[in-house]
Amino acid sequence: MNLKSLKKPRPGDFCLLCGAAPAVIGVFVPENPQEYGAIKGKTRFIRYCLCTQCHSKQGALEKVEKVIQHEFLGRATSC
Ligand SMILES: [Zn+2]
Repeated sequence: MNLKSLKKPRPGDFCLLCGAAPAVIGVFVPENPQEYGAIKGKTRFIRYCLCTQCHSKQGALEKVEKVIQHEFLGRATSC
């Protein structure tokens, strides 16, 4: 898996923030990859999609980060 293949559109993609058809594919690289399930010393890439509308909104990236964090941390605490 490399960055190029991460940025390719896939069937079933949807905007992370509103669920609409995606226009932009981004890759979030957390500062603390271990919090996101990475093995110590490894980087973690988290792929996400946004629609044009959400992508052009101010603070979109912070929102994306929060949603991703919530998904990962929520999953971690629920098991
Ligand atoms: Zn959207």
